[in-house]
Amino acid sequence: MPETDIPQQFDVLVVGAGAAGLYTALRIPNHLKVGLITKETMSLSASDWAQGGIAAAIAPEDSPSLHVEDTLKAGAGLCDRNAVEFLAQHAPSCIESLVNLGVAFDRNQGNLALTLEAAHSRHRVLHAADTTGREVITTLTAQVLQRQNIQIIQKALALDLWLSPQTKHCQGVSLFYQNRIHWAQADAVILATGGGGQVFAQTTNPAVSTGDGVALAWRAGALLKDLEFIQFHPQR
Ligand SMILES: Cc1cc2nc3c(=O)[nH]c(=O)nc-3n(C[C@H](O)[C@H](O)[C@H](O)COP(=O)(O)OP(=O)(O)OC[C@H]3O[C@@H](n4cnc5c(N)ncnc54)[C@H](O)[C@@H]3O)c2cc1C
Repeated sequence: MPETDIPQQFDVLVVGAGAAGLYTALRIPNHLKVGLITKETMSLSASDWAQGGIAAAIAPEDSPSLHVEDTLKAGAGLCDRNAVEFLAQHAPSCIESLVNLGVAFDRNQGNLALTLEAAHSRHRVLHAADTTGREVITTLTAQVLQRQNIQIIQKALALDLWLSPQTKHCQGVSLFYQNRIHWAQADAVILATGGGGQVFAQTTNPAVSTGDGVALAWRAGALLKDLEFIQFHPQR
C-alpha cells in the first residue's frame, strides 16, 4: 500500500487496526468515509499473535446464560456483570458475522470445531489451528482492502484527540505521519488501540501495546476504570 497524504476530513476515524479496529471499520455503513489508522504496518498487532481461540456459546448444549455463569464464577466476584452479559450474548452473532466475512475456523465433520478450555463448562472455544488471530486479521484485512470507503493510513501515530476549544467535543485527532504533525477531522473517533502490556518489563505483547488509547482518552478528560486488570498470557 503506497503512502499517501491524509485527507483532512472523515466521517469516522478508527484508531487501531487490530481485530477491534478492522471489525469496527467493516461494520460502518459504506456511504461513510472512514480512516483506519495504525501506528505500525497492518500486520503488526496483538490480534495477529492471538493463538488459542475465541469463546462463544454456539453448541446446541450451550447457551449465553451458561457462558455468563461460567465467566462470573471464574471472575470470583470481580466481573462487571453488564459487560459479561453483553459479551456472552453477542458472541454467537459476532462469530456468525466473522464466518460470513470468510474467517475459516477449524471444522469437525463440517461443523465449527469447539474445544474446552479454562473455566468453560462447555466446549465453546473456536480456533484456526493455533494461529486463530492471524486467520481473523488476514481475512478482515482482505475485506477492508475491498471497501472503497475505508482509507488505511499506516505508520501514523495518533498523538492526541483534537477537542473543539468551544464545546470540548472531540472533532478529530492529531497524528504524527511522515515526519510531520497532521490534523484529521472527523464526526466520530473510535479508539481501538489495544492493550498496554509493554508497561511491564516482561510481556508477550507486541511493541505496539503501549496503552496509547487509554492515555489519549485520559488526556481528553475521559473517566477510566479497572486499569488494575491486566491479562497475562499464557495464563497460569
Ligand atoms: C501472544 C498472545 C496470544 C493471545 N491469545 C489469545 C487467545 O487465544 N484468545 C483471545 O481471546 N485473546 C488472545 N490474546 C489477546 C488478544 O490478542 C487481544 O486481546 C486482542 O487482539 C486485542 O485486540 P485489539 O484490536 O483491541 O488490539 P491490537 O490487536 O493490539 O491492535 C491495536 C492496534 O492499535 C494500533 N495503535 C496503538 N496505538 C496507536 C496510536 N497511538 N496510533 C495509531 N495506532 C495505534 C496498533 O498499531 C494496532 O494496529 C493474545 C495476546 C497475545 C499477545
